Amino acid sequence: MSERWDTIVIGGGHNGLVAATLLAQAGDRVLVLEARERLGGLAAGEEFHPGYRTIGVDHDTTQLRSWVVAKLRLRELGLELESEETPVFSPAPAGNGGGILLWRDAERASPELGDDAASYGEYRAFLARLAPFVRRALDRVPVDISEQKIGDLWTLARTALGLRMLGRSDMMELFRIGPMCVADWLREWFTSDRLNALLAGPAVYGGYTGPWSPGTNANLLLHECFAGPGVKGGGPALVAALERAARDAGVEVRTAAPVQSIQMEGDAVTGVRLEGGETVTAARIAAACNPRHTLLDLLPAERLSLRLEHGISHFRSRGTTAKVHLALTAYPSFACRPDLTAAHIRIAEGIDPLERAFDPVKYRRFGDDLALDVRVPTVSEADLAPQGHHVLSVGVHFVPYELDGGWTDEARSALLEAVLTRLERYAPEVRSLVAGSETLTPADLEARYGLAGGQIHHGEHGLDQLFVRPTPECARYATPIAGLYLCGGGSYPGGGLTGAPGALAVERMRS
Ligand SMILES: Cc1cc2nc3c(=O)[nH]c(=O)nc-3n(C[C@H](O)[C@H](O)[C@H](O)COP(=O)(O)OP(=O)(O)OC[C@H]3O[C@@H](n4cnc5c(N)ncnc54)[C@H](O)[C@@H]3O)c2cc1C
Repeated sequence: MSERWDTIVIGGGHNGLVAATLLAQAGDRVLVLEARERLGGLAAGEEFHPGYRTIGVDHDTTQLRSWVVAKLRLRELGLELESEETPVFSPAPAGNGGGILLWRDAERASPELGDDAASYGEYRAFLARLAPFVRRALDRVPVDISEQKIGDLWTLARTALGLRMLGRSDMMELFRIGPMCVADWLREWFTSDRLNALLAGPAVYGGYTGPWSPGTNANLLLHECFAGPGVKGGGPALVAALERAARDAGVEVRTAAPVQSIQMEGDAVTGVRLEGGETVTAARIAAACNPRHTLLDLLPAERLSLRLEHGISHFRSRGTTAKVHLALTAYPSFACRPDLTAAHIRIAEGIDPLERAFDPVKYRRFGDDLALDVRVPTVSEADLAPQGHHVLSVGVHFVPYELDGGWTDEARSALLEAVLTRLERYAPEVRSLVAGSETLTPADLEARYGLAGGQIHHGEHGLDQLFVRPTPECARYATPIAGLYLCGGGSYPGGGLTGAPGALAVERMRS
């Protein structure tokens, strides 16, 4: 007879590893089943061209929660956080000034910002006042207001008090600006359109939204309030520490073990069946993979209520991000500042160009002036490429999942060409430095990483998909199926390398 586990975690992405470790530390016998050959999901490093490695398809580790790091004692297991801030560079095309090198630190940023310098100081001060409240209020299991339990009512009361403690002016401002579009709010602060586009990027990356879409300002506030130091070595270093934590806690891990279905008896889960036919039994399943995949593909047919099936089918998951990795023989110098070796670059000339980059997606096309979020990890991690060579990790916004005419090889080549042409405007030599490349369309991201609809956050980030995520029935990690929990980025508080959904789901399982 096969072994019976207390919990099977489906998916060894960073959230799955966080959940598995916390459950094992609490005494569960835990098995992680990961479909791919390696752990880490979107944070895993991969060789994309002989001798050149990525730092994960998601190259942003600044949203990792410090309380998750502390809870799993990741620092003791070798996780190092960056001590020095990485500024973001918005280059100008040759002959159009020097662009902006933006620090979060207002004093350091000041010489770059001209007339906006004073406002930038006030902007940062406002966010610094907001951040402690936002962090405390949002990083917890969502309350269930329908049941009116004492604990939930107490949490709500404490949140209301925390809000009031912000002071009347900041509290009213938070109510006013949360639902706004990011373009309007930033234009209240700054005159430089380049600065506005630079700041607005994270509010719209991954979304089916441009900067003029209502609600996008909430994404900016969340991104800014939760930003902290990045992880030295990026996603792969985070995954290595999480794997050590999991194994130390006694978690068993199996890679190349895709789950084909969740097994049930009566109304409760009993285990999983792997592709290939093996069954593994467990009292509880924690699905750290995509919620649509879990509920619609893995559960036996007709186990969901019509309401839940409708809800999960309409959980908006429209991918708009592609990823391009470039293997370069040297650093691509930027014409407007040839001596600068920036590690983080955002390309968008202003708010309207950012909106125009989004527009074609609605008609299943991508435009020429794509918005790019570029990291050059080899600036600090030289061993990702041969000596003196570099890796460009390019998040490409906005690119439709369902391209008109389909994602043929020609379409994929056209996308790479559009990215290179866009980069060349700022770094004219870049094309001649390319030794190899990898282009991952939203459809490729779905096929390789199990992102439904190619949506990078496992479900779009929007106010309506934040607290009630992915559906009302599953918004607090438990599902209506006894023993089945959701614990990946498709659950509250959403995507990003945060560790929060994995950790909060365990709190819920143990409450
Ligand atoms: C190109 C790109 C850029 C991004 N940029 C940002 C950013 O700048 N900022 C930000 O906040 N977020 C960003 N994200 C989103 C962020 O990376 C994700 O939200 C986060 O990594 C999700 O982590 P996870 O552990 O929940 O899921 P994942 O990392 O997706 O892990 C899920 C795991 O489940 C496995 N799996 C799936 N199905 C099965 C099955 N049937 N059986 C077994 N295993 C299975 C998968 O192989 C995978 O390893 C980006 C994502 C992408 C793709």
